Amino acid sequence: MSHTYSNEELLDNVAAEVVVCTKCYLWKGRKKAVPGVGNPESKALFIGEAPGRSEDIEGEPFVGAAGKFLDELLSGIGLSRKDVFITNVVKCRPPENRDPLPDEVETCTPYLNRQIGIIQPRFIVTLGNHSTAYILQKAKLPFRSLTQARGKVYETSLLGMEIAIFPTFHPAAALYSIQYGDQLVKDFQQIRNELMKRELANT
Ligand code: URA
Ligand code: SF4
Repeated sequence: MSHTYSNEELLDNVAAEVVVCTKCYLWKGRKKAVPGVGNPESKALFIGEAPGRSEDIEGEPFVGAAGKFLDELLSGIGLSRKDVFITNVVKCRPPENRDPLPDEVETCTPYLNRQIGIIQPRFIVTLGNHSTAYILQKAKLPFRSLTQARGKVYETSLLGMEIAIFPTFHPAAALYSIQYGDQLVKDFQQIRNELMKRELANT
């Protein structure tokens, strides 16, 4: 008897590997790896950078101050973290929240790519510089800076799937500047419009 695995089972398999992963140096400093959370059937995927202090303690993405703001941005467009899927480029916390190094990104992103392959998202929101650079480059699109790339929809092919990519600022940026926060609120309105256009507004 063959068994077709559900997205939930397949994502659980990835998560089970992530939580015991020792493929890069970041495993040494972590309390908990952070595979991702959300609705396994969602067609909207949000990708951040890497776990911070709170995420490392709880094993869940975006549960600290930046995460509170992300929850607000989502609820502002009628969504919650249970509706969409949320993960990061790198699954373990870098020391002192430094930027992930290129070899850490390279070592870890096979997990992200597997998650994308399982979820088959129609819409990917990249939050901040690292996830935007990684995803645009993966889609063979040029990336110069987040300021240039953000606030636009890129209809493209990614890992053999037709996907719309929408880069915006990282919600942590709003903790440093009101202007970033205002821009994020506007970008999320655009995200809502784009999701509605694609009939993905409650996904
Ligand atoms: N910042 C991120 O990029 N990801 C998290 O999960 C938390 C903070
Ligand atoms: Fe493994 Fe990624 Fe954690 Fe490195 S960051 S140990 S590759 S899960």
